[in-house]
Amino acid sequence: MSVLLTGASGFIAAVILDELVKKKYKIVATVRNQDKADWINKLYPNADISISIVSEIADEGAFDQTFKDHPDIEYVLHTASPFYYDHSDPEKEILGPAINGTVGILHTIKKYGPNVRHVVVTSSFVSMLNSYTWPARELYTENSWNPITYEDSLKPQNTYFGSKKFAEKALWEFMDQHKPSFTASTVNPSLVLGPGLHKVDSAEAINTSNKPIYNALHVTEEASQNLRGTVLPFVNVKDVAAAHVMAIENPEVAAGKRWLLNSGNYDDQLLLDTIHKVVPELKGKIPIGKPYSANEIKELEQTKGHLIDTSAVQKQTGIKFIGLEQTVADAVKFFQKLDEQWGTSV
Ligand code: NAP
Repeated sequence: MSVLLTGASGFIAAVILDELVKKKYKIVATVRNQDKADWINKLYPNADISISIVSEIADEGAFDQTFKDHPDIEYVLHTASPFYYDHSDPEKEILGPAINGTVGILHTIKKYGPNVRHVVVTSSFVSMLNSYTWPARELYTENSWNPITYEDSLKPQNTYFGSKKFAEKALWEFMDQHKPSFTASTVNPSLVLGPGLHKVDSAEAINTSNKPIYNALHVTEEASQNLRGTVLPFVNVKDVAAAHVMAIENPEVAAGKRWLLNSGNYDDQLLLDTIHKVVPELKGKIPIGKPYSANEIKELEQTKGHLIDTSAVQKQTGIKFIGLEQTVADAVKFFQKLDEQWGTSV
């Protein structure tokens, strides 16, 4: 019996893959092309991984061949979905792959996945927050839904948020309508930060959520004066990966649940302050911006920190979220290695 991981070359998926390998799962991994397959095979020469190329998840029957080739798939982790903001065609590039990719894999499982017991879809906190009032402070729980309409999702700043909301809605509607033999759940992380294991060829290719840490490491003196600003919620990529694996190991607990994952809040100045605190050897090498005092940090949390109630998932899984300092320390190590490869070290 094996676990299918879609989009295995992505930031989050690569960390899930690592955990699955460490736990000696038999894995089927989908990637878009042979280059990405080669990267995974090189990274894990002795693991039980079969790679299946799925170049476009929005295509009809995109996952049919994967399931025909691997009828023993028992669990599915569907992470593949586009996450970027600078698109030119919202439906073709973002909404289509997110929604049709999710609906498509569910129909394929129904047709060709007789042994599938549980499906985990990587959704997002953005399918829960209110796009119309964000970033105003509101209380969010696992029962919250983004009220964004499909029409408003066509506006570029809303498209990614809408793509996650409508893909997740499509999952739950499928489960209601078809009552398949498998159960399903979602993992809904806030912005995911932390060390990656995926292939990153250039600074431009750093995944969307992790860019603020890389940018803080490379900020200019002038730009560092304006880092205080939008507060965003975050969670460590290792916690996100662990939640996916927990869901397939405890499907009876996960079934029907939306696991909302969040550790805390940050803004770009707090990231820079944290970098200086946890990597003191960078002192004098990168700017300090306008550091927060301890009182200002408390005030920031109390006035701008997002109110995200994760008590349900904590109770169901026992998860204890990794904090900002550990997350930044690990991410900086990851980026320092990349900078060494690219000759861009600070
Ligand atoms: P990522 O590194 O960009 O990974 C996305 C993966 O999906 C990549 O493997 C990508 O392949 C694949 N993919 C995207 N569009 C595709 C398409 N049309 N056809 C086939 N494959 C496609 O992003 P990530 O941050 O790891 O995100 C993974 C999942 O987590 C996504 O569902 C995302 O919405 C969700 N999520 C992310 C965050 C976050 O802060 N990072 C927060 C909440 C939820 P290529 O790289 O080859 O294009």
